[in-house]
Amino acid sequence: MARRLAIIGGDAAGMSAASTARRRDPDLEVVAFERGPYSSYSACGIPYYVGALFDDPDRLISRSPDEHRANGLTLFMRTEVTAIDLDARRLTVVDRQSGDERSEPFDELVYATGAEAVAPPIPGAEATEPVRTVDAAERFRAALERGGDHQHVVVIGGGYIGLEMAEALVQRNIATTLIEAAPQVMGTLDADMAAHVQDAAEGLGIRVLVGTAVEEILLDPLGAPRAVRAGGETIDADHVVMATGVKPAVALAEDAGIELGPSGAVRVDDHQRCPGHDGVYAAGDCAESWHRILEQPVNIQLGTHANKQGRIAGANLTGGDLAFPGVIGTAVSRLCRYEVARTGISEREAGQADIAVVAAEVKDKTRAGYFPGAGPIWVKLVCEPGTGRLLGGQIVGVEGAAKRIDVLATCVWAGMTVDEIELLDLGYAPPYSGVYDPVLVAARAAAKRIS
Ligand SMILES: Cc1cc2nc3c(=O)[nH]c(=O)nc-3n(C[C@H](O)[C@H](O)[C@H](O)COP(=O)(O)OP(=O)(O)OC[C@H]3O[C@@H](n4cnc5c(N)ncnc54)[C@H](O)[C@@H]3O)c2cc1C
Repeated sequence: MARRLAIIGGDAAGMSAASTARRRDPDLEVVAFERGPYSSYSACGIPYYVGALFDDPDRLISRSPDEHRANGLTLFMRTEVTAIDLDARRLTVVDRQSGDERSEPFDELVYATGAEAVAPPIPGAEATEPVRTVDAAERFRAALERGGDHQHVVVIGGGYIGLEMAEALVQRNIATTLIEAAPQVMGTLDADMAAHVQDAAEGLGIRVLVGTAVEEILLDPLGAPRAVRAGGETIDADHVVMATGVKPAVALAEDAGIELGPSGAVRVDDHQRCPGHDGVYAAGDCAESWHRILEQPVNIQLGTHANKQGRIAGANLTGGDLAFPGVIGTAVSRLCRYEVARTGISEREAGQADIAVVAAEVKDKTRAGYFPGAGPIWVKLVCEPGTGRLLGGQIVGVEGAAKRIDVLATCVWAGMTVDEIELLDLGYAPPYSGVYDPVLVAARAAAKRIS
């Protein structure tokens, strides 16, 4: 009898594990269960679909169920796993269309259920739908297109997803208010860098309210949002986008006795194995990752980690020996012309973790000052006092600003000091930077501060 691998969750982590395992062991039977209608979709592309950068939602699907099936995988779509029995090696699954329940056996298991939105405890929040899946994005875009001119949308939550959705809306000439309870947008940046993002958002015409808690979402007689009460005012809203954060989807694992770690996500070792449960793996947004700078497990929900962790789980359960090396919190995002990026730890995170740091911020230009189109770029570096080892970086700026974070991420990963970074051999030509790239200028500023 062929061994049977069951995958719970048919997106980035789950299907990377499925494809890798199947490729490495063609005799393995691989069965994936996905409660939604789409497999291997790019949630990352949803804001750009909502913003009408392209019209066909199928372009968000990197591999359809039929394409997976053609590669020898079995996929049960619209099928939810409702219980895991680790001793009996069986899953309880429910066909969401027929309501039929059945039991499915497995030898190995990959738990890849992702993350789920956390709606704040606000009256009316239950009437909103998080735009996290392709079908939800299709419904939201159709509603925008039915709404005609002069719509107003309130986005609740000023993290990168809230900002990307706000960007999508203003690009469609839809009046947009973004409300954030914290004193700044982009909580993953320090306040000084987040202020540049807020300026950029306001420059695009997004009304940004920070330090403002939403008190209530007012509903019309049919139960649809019609206004938001926040900060003492009532803001009319044809639609409300909830982007207030997510938590790892761990209930099913917890019920089965799979251990959670301190971050609240599924505990895994560096091979994506769930400790104490042979043949059980977890990957992606539902699982912990080791943070190489903070030296503790964290739960950072990004597609870039989900794909790699899924691949590693798929390799290891078919006899491989791959370790996931951990994360350093690298992320990029865009707000129309402005780009936002971060890696390592911020000054605030350092303070929270009792790590002493020295920080330096510079403002520079993205091209040689005389070159047409040069725009602003701010680079902030956080480094270890004494040694000058780079612990983190943040970048906000126009054209090409964000991907400079990859240089900083590589330096953080490699443990380089700002002295070493200051003289790195980076490319230069006037259309791309000044003779000293802003990254080098920031490194020099940081080196001066520690000397
Ligand atoms: C709007 C948006 C923009 C984003 N932009 C970026 C970006 O620019 N860069 C980046 O790196 N990341 C981005 N992300 C995050 C990225 O999409 C996720 O990190 C990635 O999808 C995680 O993959 P995953 O497989 O772990 O989880 P998911 O993609 O959440 O997949 C989990 C799947 O499991 C299914 N499932 C859950 N429970 C069950 C069950 N009991 N039975 C059956 N099926 C189940 C779910 O339906 C889901 O399809 C973005 C996310 C969103 C929502």
